[in-house]
Amino acid sequence: MTFDLSARLVDRRAANLFRQRPLLQGPQGPLVRVDGRELLAFCSNDYLGLANHPQVIAAMQSGAERWGVGGAASHLVIGHSAPHHELEEALAAFTGRPRALLFSTGYMANLAVVTALLGQGDSVFEDRLNHASLLDAGLLSGARFSRYLHNDAQSLGKRLEKAEGNALVVTDGVFSMDGDLADLPALCTQARARGAWVMVDDAHGFGPLGATGSGIVEHFGLGLDEVQVLVGTLGKAFGTAGAFVAGSEELIETLIQFARPYIYTTSQPPAVACATLKSLELLRAEHWRREHLATLIRRLRQGAESIGLTLMDSPTPIQPILVGDSARAVRLSALLRERGVMVGAIRPPTVPVGGARLRVTLSAAHSAAQVERLLETLAECWPLVAADE
Ligand SMILES: *Cc1c(COP(=O)(O)O)cnc(C)c1O
Repeated sequence: MTFDLSARLVDRRAANLFRQRPLLQGPQGPLVRVDGRELLAFCSNDYLGLANHPQVIAAMQSGAERWGVGGAASHLVIGHSAPHHELEEALAAFTGRPRALLFSTGYMANLAVVTALLGQGDSVFEDRLNHASLLDAGLLSGARFSRYLHNDAQSLGKRLEKAEGNALVVTDGVFSMDGDLADLPALCTQARARGAWVMVDDAHGFGPLGATGSGIVEHFGLGLDEVQVLVGTLGKAFGTAGAFVAGSEELIETLIQFARPYIYTTSQPPAVACATLKSLELLRAEHWRREHLATLIRRLRQGAESIGLTLMDSPTPIQPILVGDSARAVRLSALLRERGVMVGAIRPPTVPVGGARLRVTLSAAHSAAQVERLLETLAECWPLVAADE
């Protein structure tokens, strides 16, 4: 008996599912150097254009000078430093919640919450299209695991009738591969009727959505009574790294006491927290970022429709172009790339079979002219693959 890794890799290639990592040779931004070429990119999650912002860089530099480089211990031992604490307080205030807890990644924040709140004898209800980290968290918790139809409150309601123990409804705020919004008002109504809690992972809504940018819960005018657990990530619109959970005093204290992915890991470098505090300040001061982004989204949708492309129901910076077949999606992505434009092809298993797409993401750092160039290039390349079957 031995591991047959090569057969697995060969199958992966044959199915057009083989993945490769583009090598980025400079900072993130609309114009990037990738694999030795300058490209106009529409694939990062740097929605507000903060990942390479001079003031955020300066905050990280001075943070490193003052606080050193490494966290050097877990939060509970001696790794919880003043910048982490200040950021937690700022995020709690920004989301209008009693308390927030900082994590090094969103993946870990999700594992932490679900495994700390649920165990055997409990129930977790997840949207079928939830992010992998949420699905993994549900499975790891040992709770009864149930997936409801995408964004379907009726389907959730039916499943909730069979809930046992503590019941947690878990959803992405903005679905990461489709860009659509969770129907939180309807989902929360169902949860409430059954005494279940709601957890929202707002990785892509935190920053772009809501009147102040605090995300989808603000967008729908909901609060702690409807959404007990709010997760936001800092590596996307905030341009830095890490994540947080915001909720009640008791929720946060429970995580500190019981969440293994929180307890058994080194705190993020304090300088990263210094950088995130600066991102938060810029988000609040520079309204033009969110306004400009909204203008680009409108223009892209209008332009794509006139070319005859199939878009999804998305009001967010995630604007997938549905292609269907994986090979065709790869070919369209390659044609764009030959013309200097980079858009990632997203294929199964990240999306359902037959749901391959080009995932266009927009950033406040893009100019209107760059979006026009994307549209012109799409208009040129789409007819070349539209006839393929
Ligand atoms: C990116 C993402 C995560 C993971 O966050 P990281 O900080 O990158 O680990 C979790 N949930 C969703 C919906 C995401 O898009």
